[in-house]
Amino acid sequence: MDDNLLEKVVALCKRRGFVYPGSEIYGGLAGTWDYGPMGSLLKKNLKDIWWKDMVQMRDDVVGVDTAIMMNRRVWEGSGHTQFFTDPLIECKICHQRFREDKQELVAEHEKSHVGQKVEWTEPRTFNLLVKAYLGVIEGSQNEIYLRGEITAGVHVNFKNIIDSTRVKIPFGVAQIGKAFRNEITPGNFTFRSVEFEQMEVQYYVRPNDEEADKWFEYWKQNRMDWYVYLGINKDKLRFKDHEKLAHYAKRATDIEYEAPWGWDEVMGIHKRTDWDLSRHEEFSGQSMKYRDQENSDEYWPWDIETSAGVDRSILFFLLDAYTEEENRVLLKLHPKLAPYKAAVFPLLANKPELIEKARGIFEVLRSEFMTAWDDRGNIGKRYAAQDEIGTPYCITVDFQSLEDDTVTVRDRDTAQQVRIKTDQVAAHLAGFLQ
Ligand code: ATP
Repeated sequence: MDDNLLEKVVALCKRRGFVYPGSEIYGGLAGTWDYGPMGSLLKKNLKDIWWKDMVQMRDDVVGVDTAIMMNRRVWEGSGHTQFFTDPLIECKICHQRFREDKQELVAEHEKSHVGQKVEWTEPRTFNLLVKAYLGVIEGSQNEIYLRGEITAGVHVNFKNIIDSTRVKIPFGVAQIGKAFRNEITPGNFTFRSVEFEQMEVQYYVRPNDEEADKWFEYWKQNRMDWYVYLGINKDKLRFKDHEKLAHYAKRATDIEYEAPWGWDEVMGIHKRTDWDLSRHEEFSGQSMKYRDQENSDEYWPWDIETSAGVDRSILFFLLDAYTEEENRVLLKLHPKLAPYKAAVFPLLANKPELIEKARGIFEVLRSEFMTAWDDRGNIGKRYAAQDEIGTPYCITVDFQSLEDDTVTVRDRDTAQQVRIKTDQVAAHLAGFLQ
């Protein structure tokens, strides 16, 4: 692997408008990132594909979009005020703080104090929930938490969802949204941020191990296949069972990617059993049970959760797609993910006939999908610019186009060009429309 891959991707992200450091002109805010014109398109594409596959194309999943700010009792019920912690240790020399379980970072830090023996404080539990104050008076009365994971919004609405839809066990509830964590050491670009987005399905099943384990296996494979289908090199993905389980989980597996800093988590599949529904019933006093139409049993279904990071997925898609060839850099992103699907170039900017013809093609394509227009500089530079943002096809209108109504279509990955009739361009690119 290229030793500088991460640095190169970070630089490309800044240079080409994928991701910028948050609040940059004020010196930044650690662990926050802003998505630029390319990054916001990539992110939207990823979320749209996910939503289509998880909600639109499935009979058994409905979607929700719940509030980020919730009654603080929710987090007592879900166990987060008590258990959502990481072990924090502090370097006694420079007082920098680390997660004790992130051994590589700890070792790296020890090496940075050359010739000194680093001593650490005893680990203490550090709660990751981010506090906020709501209302006009500061104080514990008005203290709330920004959600540490998007899951709780689904569980607390369990009754609302079963009462207002026709879902029947087994069924899932999908959600995409922001989560916030007071991470002790944000880092590795967007991999560990303090504000990030998650895409989750809580899949409710009958409460027994056989049923739950069957769905657990199903979702593991389903999610792995999804990343491979979207183009990630499958040799760089693996399952990793959790050794230490979160407070809500009876079983958990991560899908990991081989990042430049080592194998690390893309997403998790968790067997949460009835932890959430039973606890919310206990803490809220409201019934969270499901009445099974088949046998009139009443029970708390068990939850099989798939929880993926939007930002982490994007980072891994970018790292995986980054390719250097002799005289160009390209992002081999799956066309469905690519910010722009096509770019249209008139060969010369000062020939009105070329501009007019190219503009006509551009208007047709942009009504279907994101299409770039570029009439500046030489064609080679224009191709290079599109390669760097991962545009799968570039269409050039040249003098021959004026004679025989054909254009060249250049493929990003092979750099090969074919000539096709103008009215066939949309059909040639039709794969994006599905
Ligand atoms: P880690 O062990 O890396 O801290 P986690 O196991 O705590 O992650 P989960 O609570 O299972 O993560 O969250 C589900 C998903 O949300 C993760 O797989 C990851 O994709 C994403 N995620 C969690 N924390 C962050 C973060 N700080 N920054 C970006 N994405 C995150």
